[in-house]
Amino acid sequence: MLWARPVAYFSAEFGFHESIPIYSGGLGILAGDHIKAASDLGIPLVGIGLYYDQGYFKQRLDRDGRQREDYIEVDSGLLPLQPAFTGNGDPVTVTVETRTGAIAARVWKLTVGRNTVLLLDSDVDGNQPEDRELTARLYGGDERVRIRQELILGVGGVRALMALGISPGVAHLNEGHSAFAGLELARHRMAREGIGADEAMRRIAAQVVFTTHTPVPAGHDRFSADLIDEHLGPLREALGLDHDQLMAWGREHPADPSEAFCMTVLALRISRRANAVSSVHGHVTRAMWAPLFPGWAEERVPIGHITNGVHVRTWLAPQMHRLYDRHLGPEWPRRCAEPGCWEAIENVDAGELWETHQTLRTRLIGFARRRAVRCAERRGEGTDVLNQLRQSLSLDAMTIGFARRIVTYKRANLILQDIDLIASLVNDAQVPIQFVFAGKAHPRDEPGKDVLQQVARLMRDPRFAGKVLFVEDYDIDVGRHLVQGVDVWLNTPRRPLEASGSSGQKVVLNGGLNLSVLDGWWAEAYDGLNGFAIGAGETHTPTELHDRRDGEALARVLRDEVVPLFYDRDRDGLPRGWIARMKRAIRTLGWRFSADRMVTDYVLTSYIPAAGGTSSDMSRF
Ligand SMILES: *Cc1c(COP(=O)(O)O)cnc(C)c1O
Repeated sequence: MLWARPVAYFSAEFGFHESIPIYSGGLGILAGDHIKAASDLGIPLVGIGLYYDQGYFKQRLDRDGRQREDYIEVDSGLLPLQPAFTGNGDPVTVTVETRTGAIAARVWKLTVGRNTVLLLDSDVDGNQPEDRELTARLYGGDERVRIRQELILGVGGVRALMALGISPGVAHLNEGHSAFAGLELARHRMAREGIGADEAMRRIAAQVVFTTHTPVPAGHDRFSADLIDEHLGPLREALGLDHDQLMAWGREHPADPSEAFCMTVLALRISRRANAVSSVHGHVTRAMWAPLFPGWAEERVPIGHITNGVHVRTWLAPQMHRLYDRHLGPEWPRRCAEPGCWEAIENVDAGELWETHQTLRTRLIGFARRRAVRCAERRGEGTDVLNQLRQSLSLDAMTIGFARRIVTYKRANLILQDIDLIASLVNDAQVPIQFVFAGKAHPRDEPGKDVLQQVARLMRDPRFAGKVLFVEDYDIDVGRHLVQGVDVWLNTPRRPLEASGSSGQKVVLNGGLNLSVLDGWWAEAYDGLNGFAIGAGETHTPTELHDRRDGEALARVLRDEVVPLFYDRDRDGLPRGWIARMKRAIRTLGWRFSADRMVTDYVLTSYIPAAGGTSSDMSRF
């Protein structure tokens, strides 16, 4: 049943490779890793997304450390994309009607391993000029652009599948952006089975799986009644619903006319299986959406969790891959979700593991220096600055990495809370530390840009010059170098706002250690010996107190635990205690936070039941 019909996996972004600019951050990387792991595991799955020819944006910093954005059009002819053709050999075009005209989109096909991803692109002849631009940029427009993008993704996505003769057995909505797909699926179901809209929605819900990623209410897409009517009016009429009936599907309180239409609410109502992306995030999500399930105790709200994982071979350095080939057996990539597969790491010679890791640190530092010099040249910096950058960072110092979307809750600037202590650690001649930062702030996020600037300015602070580098234009390429080369990966979200996080999982595979707030995946991963914790999982309101406490805890754990262990060397120069932690991290976390484990969890707990589900058990609605 499941295998006869594929899973349709909808996502507004996909991060497969730096050359295909259709991702901005964790959500997209997760989607890309999901598709790759599904291919490895032989799970038939079709991805549905949008083709953004200008992608997110290219970042550069001005002399004052302020972010500037450039948009560059990628030539689709250079990408591994093909137009999708129908059985008759015609290129597939889908059309979605709105009250103010129809929007057409062509469909690109991208092959990822054994699976296909369909990418809708509104830059076609016949569209209004504004609509040709609709899919140009990821997260680039206002509300109106956004609802139109989501209309193409959800409704257009289902139509693209139908045009290609693909009849999915399960629809998986990765975040609420694509939830309009449910309405279009219901329309087909009505026509096919001669039922009303409400019954059709109930029936399709059995086959819809929804993953939510956003732990704050403000982060969920909401659209006004006007925007909904303009864009969903024609589809609503085809469903035989009046305006209030449709709005009710997207409202927490269906009869409250003042409430906007929330995509997450729609997604929860049209899916029978919903999940958060870590255990902590599961608790937060159930509390947040409990009002949708009146009469249910909060802990029984039917939203579970499947913790994110990463595609091992995408993020693993070739040097570490070869080390695993030598010690874990030739079959290890296929068995990477099995705990037993990783046990042999304990037998690896400490010197061999350490040397491999040092090679990767050296590679990272070379990469960071080269990019810093190139960016400084472009800014027209003088020779002094360039020479200083060429010699920045030490090949042997403990290297701490931080690369993320720069948004205030992730607190890239947490080290500023106790900057004097951090400065003393950086300048310790015997046991120095150094930092490599990267990350983009959303173009309209001024507070995020302020945080970024605070960090970038450290490069000009005499106490930190040459010991902190900000690598511009964070993307998959930068991320790969960082997660493969750091000794320590710093993660400082304001708990409980990090739904999962996944970059730290990439670090583990490459022998780095996490130093993280106990939030997201790390709250369930940390066992006291496989990395380091900042604090003990507290949350404080007010925010200033919370940040001060966490900042102090960070500086303290660095000084008292992390630095001493890193520099505690034996007669061979090896940090035995540190290497023991590296091995423990790899052994205890490598399998658990792999995308193979994650996709297997989706298959067993969501896809198979959804594919075989019947419509009789509808207790949730
Ligand atoms: C892994 C990755 C992310 C997600 O990392 P988080 O830990 O979830 O913040 C974002 N961007 C890039 C380029 C990545 O490789």
